[in-house]
Amino acid sequence: MRNVTILGSTGSIGLNTLNVIEKHPDRFCVVALTAYSNVDLLAQQAIKFKVKHAVIGDEALYEDLKAALSGHEISCAAGEEAIVEATRIPADITMAAIVGMAGLPSLMAAIEQGGFIALANKEPLVAAGAQVLEVVERSGATLLPVDSEHNAIFQVFEKDNANAIERLILTASGGPFRDWSFEEMEKATPEQAVAHPNWTMGAKISVDSASMMNKALEVIEAHYLFEMPADKIEVLVHPQSVIHSMVEYNDGSVLSQMGASDMCTPITNILGWPRRIATPGEKLDLSKMSNLSFEQVDNARFPSIQMAYDALNSGQAACVSMNAANEIAVAAFLSHKIAFLDIYKIIREVLDKQETAPLKSLNDVFSYDKVARDIAESLIH
Ligand code: NAD
Ligand code: MG
Repeated sequence: MRNVTILGSTGSIGLNTLNVIEKHPDRFCVVALTAYSNVDLLAQQAIKFKVKHAVIGDEALYEDLKAALSGHEISCAAGEEAIVEATRIPADITMAAIVGMAGLPSLMAAIEQGGFIALANKEPLVAAGAQVLEVVERSGATLLPVDSEHNAIFQVFEKDNANAIERLILTASGGPFRDWSFEEMEKATPEQAVAHPNWTMGAKISVDSASMMNKALEVIEAHYLFEMPADKIEVLVHPQSVIHSMVEYNDGSVLSQMGASDMCTPITNILGWPRRIATPGEKLDLSKMSNLSFEQVDNARFPSIQMAYDALNSGQAACVSMNAANEIAVAAFLSHKIAFLDIYKIIREVLDKQETAPLKSLNDVFSYDKVARDIAESLIH
């Protein structure tokens, strides 16, 4: 029996995690759940899975949560600090599924506890990779990648042959605007951007997929997770999303993991790891597939991937700026304040305007991130 805590249980990854857990009542017990604002769903989940503790991020919703849980033996709390504290309740696996840098404090606190960390929340690793890995090393925690590309690599990554690895090849669907012209993208609406052809995901990552900023973040994520230099990480567009990524070894072998476009597979892989257990999700039917294709990224229409390589080569500060500017720009785009292509403009301007600085501690990262956000906001309002 594994005890599981889910940070961000009401999101797309959170819901899929609970679907996997529901299929295996003999294997998993849910200890704590956290969410930001969806009290009703959080309370329903907490009651259904008989958790010990539920936390709502928005403090104004504390009374609502308390009322929804009355009569049940479930303690509850509210606020950012309460989310961090929830990670201290002993758990074997913590699913980090909050979106954005908002997940960094609770991710760090979960890592401090040791144990298994199922990492979906990529932004904290992009911005604070060095500090995250330092705490992983110190606490003895095991970081397990949930992001489908990194989970694919994780499944075919031969640790003992790490120095025989020539390339990590991250596949990208290309997102909903893969075939769109500049002119079309200029007018793209949030509704069009979140309509992903292959995956159903939260709003932020859906926009990131449309701008291919998601793949940019994933290049940096792969750099930290697999300790690979930027020049050994490549991106290839693979519109069918069947091959979730690949590792090329020096003997010419290219190993890949395939699966349906369903996050239940990587989530199940990680929750069961190192064992294999059954997914409640979709299975791949290759007989229905007539074509698997691969193409280079069009860096002119999708400048994001090159931004990630530049940021990696420039240093951690650039990774923080890029991520922070993107979070602000995506939120502004989703609330119809800026146009789709302004996302790139804002990221570029923040990178240009913010002086680089050596980031030694987590506090340095937080303050640098804050400055980047302020610059980005000033470009919007
Ligand atoms: P989502 O928007 O669907 O859910 C986000 C969750 O985080 C919700 O439970 C929400 O309540 C919580 N949350 C939001 N803001 C918060 C805050 N300020 N403080 C505390 N909690 C907060 O997002 P998602 O699509 O599930 O993605 C979660 C993370 O996983 C992201 O980092 C994303 O990049 C990554 N990821 C998602 C997918 C996917 O298929 N959805 C795939 C790979 C990686
Ligand atoms: Mg991914």
